[in-house]
Amino acid sequence: MPALPFTCLDDYDPEALSVSRARQFLLDTVQPVAGHERLFVREALGRVLAEDVISPVDVPAHDNSAMDGWAVRHADLSPAGETRLKIVGTAFAGRPCEAKVGAGETARIMTGAMIPEGADCVVIQEVVRVEGKTIIVPPGQKPAQNIRRAGEDLQAGKPAIPAGKRLRPAELGVIASLGIAEISVRRRVRVALFSTGDELISLGMPLTPGAVYDSNRYTLWGMLTRLGCEVIDMGVVKDDPVALEAAFREAAACSDAIVTSGGVSVGEADFVKQLMARLGEVAFWKIAMKPGKPMAFGRIGQGKESAWLFGLPGNPVAVMVTFYQFVRPALMKLMGLDPLPHLPTFAARCTAPIKKGPGRTEFQRGILFRDNDEWCVRPTGHQGSGMLSSMAHADCFIVLEADRGKVEAGERVLVQPFEGLV
Ligand code: AMP
Ligand code: MG
Repeated sequence: MPALPFTCLDDYDPEALSVSRARQFLLDTVQPVAGHERLFVREALGRVLAEDVISPVDVPAHDNSAMDGWAVRHADLSPAGETRLKIVGTAFAGRPCEAKVGAGETARIMTGAMIPEGADCVVIQEVVRVEGKTIIVPPGQKPAQNIRRAGEDLQAGKPAIPAGKRLRPAELGVIASLGIAEISVRRRVRVALFSTGDELISLGMPLTPGAVYDSNRYTLWGMLTRLGCEVIDMGVVKDDPVALEAAFREAAACSDAIVTSGGVSVGEADFVKQLMARLGEVAFWKIAMKPGKPMAFGRIGQGKESAWLFGLPGNPVAVMVTFYQFVRPALMKLMGLDPLPHLPTFAARCTAPIKKGPGRTEFQRGILFRDNDEWCVRPTGHQGSGMLSSMAHADCFIVLEADRGKVEAGERVLVQPFEGLV
């Protein structure tokens, strides 16, 4: 296995790797997975396009009317007064119009109908008076008005959607509008998932004294599934070197990436570090952030039986924060997304004070609301990194930059909405 470029981080303070540097390292290191499959358009919702979709046709295929109205020859219209024109036919959407529009003539035209031969302008029906077999058009009509040109949406032979795009409902519609029924998408990224900890109990078992239910596997399963990954849930693994080694080998053999929670904090990392050194190349980072300071990243296994490893902390909020700040962008790169979308970030007025010292980036949980035409954010009560309810109540992260000190009520802070993500 080629060595991972960890040496480029050699100058980092071992007590504090910055959030942006850690994220950039992940993005520079992982590469998109190889492998395509062909799918029917609907099955491809949420998948990443593997090849450009080239438009086989012009869309629209012909000049057509943008409005219900009257197809006319602009040169016939009097610039100063009303013009009377003779009705010679009707142009319906979906079939060519039989009538030709000659000098002094007009045809009734429906939205989407092909412009009849001879006509070059559409007058909307609301301004026209009909008198028997004629119409009266007021002055002030512009040349070529209300006409959609052939190819104005998409041109034959040009890429309609570039490779690397995630297929949303809009892209499915564009593909369908080209008459294409099947497309090539990248295969799903396979992610193996397990929790570590002797204290963890799986659902369905009684809670023994001192034990906690394993919640991280549920939040991680949800986040990975929403991202569009194929999730391989390997359950809970005890803090035992033999069990952990077996789990890592099995995970590496069947996945592109492994996401674990727990076992990377100082007390536990030592035996995990020795194990990782045997299995591959993994760095244990202390990231200058709260929550989510300890994190492991690297590659474990051999050849085809190897996978990226994201070892997340055990605290449930830290799991979600580190997933969104690091694992999500890295997995998006593995999925082949190009360009990588950022979580939208904007400034909002914070309605309560927040305690903070400079040195670490903090990701507090907040609730966004509108007040007097301004976006405001209210922190969700207790912010302990084990308080998962703070995530459940929140709809955004409040991102407090590393060098920032405490926040007074009324100051502006950066927020990242996570609606639709968590
Ligand atoms: P660790 O990083 O393993 O030291 O765990 C830190 C804290 O997170 C401890 O209080 C653990 O009990 C808790 N924790 C670890 N894993 C999980 C999990 N899968 N579900 C819920 N809590 C967890
Ligand atoms: Mg643990």
